[in-house]
Amino acid sequence: MSEAAATAPATASKLGAPIIEMRDVNKWYGEFHVLRNVNLTVRKGERVVVCGPSGSGKSTAIRCINRLEEHQKGQIIVDGIELTANLKNIEAIRREVGMVFQQFNLFPHLTVLENLTLAPIWVRKVPKKEAEETAMYYLNRVRIPEQANKYPGQLSGGQQQRVAIARSLCMKPNIMLFDEPTSALDPEMVKEVLDVMVGLANEGMTMICVTHEMGFARTVADTMVFMDRGEVVETSAPQEFFAQPKSERTRAFLGQIL
Ligand code: ADP
Ligand code: MG
Repeated sequence: MSEAAATAPATASKLGAPIIEMRDVNKWYGEFHVLRNVNLTVRKGERVVVCGPSGSGKSTAIRCINRLEEHQKGQIIVDGIELTANLKNIEAIRREVGMVFQQFNLFPHLTVLENLTLAPIWVRKVPKKEAEETAMYYLNRVRIPEQANKYPGQLSGGQQQRVAIARSLCMKPNIMLFDEPTSALDPEMVKEVLDVMVGLANEGMTMICVTHEMGFARTVADTMVFMDRGEVVETSAPQEFFAQPKSERTRAFLGQIL
């Protein structure tokens, strides 16, 4: 994020070249203008936290980055690949970008281990044994290796979300998108999921996290983005964002949630 980098040289120095660029991105659902000239640059290793009122376009914006949604105007470039209607590019993007949703979207009829190995085996053609080793590595990383042979329904919400994160990581993405990963969880389970995300952030994963967990944001964010009514209203370093938001809309929003 060039603006934030200019005000936070200590942070900027560890960030690499831009890996995601959204330039004047516009999207409509029918008549409804859901994204209005959205601009966002994310550098390799940057941790971006996106917040804003419900319905402001946060999910739509990040879903455009892995082409779960299509934009109609403007440019989105992910690791040098421009997102167009070209299917070949879309597959390349999906390899690059992992996504974790509010609803964990695990397959209920498959065990945890099977959930983690399904795509590597069938999409990536990874040999089963290797896929299982990778899966166990990431289950260890999210600290639930003992749940490998259970079914999602036998796990708590926090454990299921950690499985969902591990499942994404098994595809070895360079970028992780999180869309309110803790907002469907009971309060006592929020921390165990945020801890996993902090761990990933500390290892230098490039991340965009839509979340209203502002403690998390203060801990890990290099850059804060505030969206309202389809617009990026404010992009700034967290120190500045929380202490002296530039926009009245940001101030009002922070006043409601903090
Ligand atoms: P946020 O994640 O910030 O809550 P969303 O990106 O989910 O916001 O939605 C932005 C707006 O677009 C909302 O008004 C929502 O109702 C609308 N919207 C989202 N998905 C669709 C869709 N598939 N069709 C029509 N409108 C949609
Ligand atoms: Mg949303």
